[in-house]
Amino acid sequence: MQTHLADFIKDTSAGREADAILRKCVHCGFCSATCPTYQLLGDELDGPRGRIYLIKQVLEGKTATAKTQLHLDRCLTCRACETTCPSGVQYGRLLDIGRELVHTQVRRGAIAGLARAALRAVIPHRARFTALLRMGQSLRWLLPPALKRKVPARAQSSVWPSSTHARTMLVLEGCVQPALSPNTNAAAARVLDRIGITLLRAPAADCCGAVSQHLDAPGEALDYMRRNIDAWWPFIEQGAEAIVITASGCATMVAEYGHLLAHDAAYADKAARVSTLMKDISEVIAAETPNLLKLLAHYALNPRSSILNPQSSKLAFHPPCSLQHGLKMQGSVETLLTDLGFKLTPVADSHLCCGSAGTYSILQPELSQRLLKNKIAALHAGEPTAIITANIGCQSHLQTATGLHVTHWIEALDARLA
Ligand code: SF4
Ligand code: SF4
Repeated sequence: MQTHLADFIKDTSAGREADAILRKCVHCGFCSATCPTYQLLGDELDGPRGRIYLIKQVLEGKTATAKTQLHLDRCLTCRACETTCPSGVQYGRLLDIGRELVHTQVRRGAIAGLARAALRAVIPHRARFTALLRMGQSLRWLLPPALKRKVPARAQSSVWPSSTHARTMLVLEGCVQPALSPNTNAAAARVLDRIGITLLRAPAADCCGAVSQHLDAPGEALDYMRRNIDAWWPFIEQGAEAIVITASGCATMVAEYGHLLAHDAAYADKAARVSTLMKDISEVIAAETPNLLKLLAHYALNPRSSILNPQSSKLAFHPPCSLQHGLKMQGSVETLLTDLGFKLTPVADSHLCCGSAGTYSILQPELSQRLLKNKIAALHAGEPTAIITANIGCQSHLQTATGLHVTHWIEALDARLA
């Protein structure tokens, strides 16, 4: 695609990056076929090719309007279009640049601005989010059914192992996961403990930065990244092999630290190292599959975990967009779980987003609910006994619309080893 970027941006790092991305796009439109919002709305401007065109216009000097912002806001950032694109267009990065630019030109209405500020003030802060969630949970019995579904019952966690091993890895605790699903990281710690790896927590690490990054606050996102790097660095210097992440949305963000902090002389090298060390939990488990298979052969099946027991259950796996399109790990967890003996049901259109997409379910509820309804129907079609996934956002969102238990797949593996 030919480009003529405007003077105000063409010689900046963002301008050069956007220009290189735009030049790769040949406008073929293949990406529209897998775009969830294009499928729902049928409008070119609600598909990747149309959004690329809108961003190009703004980069070339046309002033953005509220309509430009609306079409960019409706994008889920699911990046299914990247997986489909034959030219390797990095749509996600272009969208980040485009949204940041549009944000400087279009003032949001008071209510929309306040909603975004409130989300940024609560979600990335573990203590604030936990306090609010606990308040909602204590009043849950008073809520009408529609609202009750959105406030999950308080989840319990099994114990974190106390044994230590020579091999250590760090885990990102994250912002909302400890309150919503405290057993996920504990399950990861127990599984890794059984194969001789200690999973360490760095209490000062916080949100990965994705919430701010996707809510018009890239500077704030960079501050979260720097804070996490500072919290992890002493552990890295002491030999932690990897930074393990059990929420693929956060993993996608941490994978970008090196790129996003490349301009920061004080953090560039450390950020690049952190991104190299980042591993989705499935990558760690896949590397240990032979050890796990030996262990599994010796473990008696735990009748208490029958809902996740591979002998008696069929599980429907929902691959989060961040896992398959962000981390480019399409099919990897399915292969891993099948290798470990789990029975997975077939799920149609597994490349499509469930509608969670960070704060999308709050900011775009109508589109989000339509995607959720389609996703639940696809997941239920194989008559599973439970649903498993790999990202806390998807897990919580799916749980609002199904009577089946929804959990992270690592908990299913942990239950099998119990
Ligand atoms: S982003 Fe890729 S698939 Fe979409 S129009 Fe451009 S080149 Fe084609
Ligand atoms: S990121 Fe997802 S919703 Fe956005 S344009 Fe690409 S496929 Fe469509």
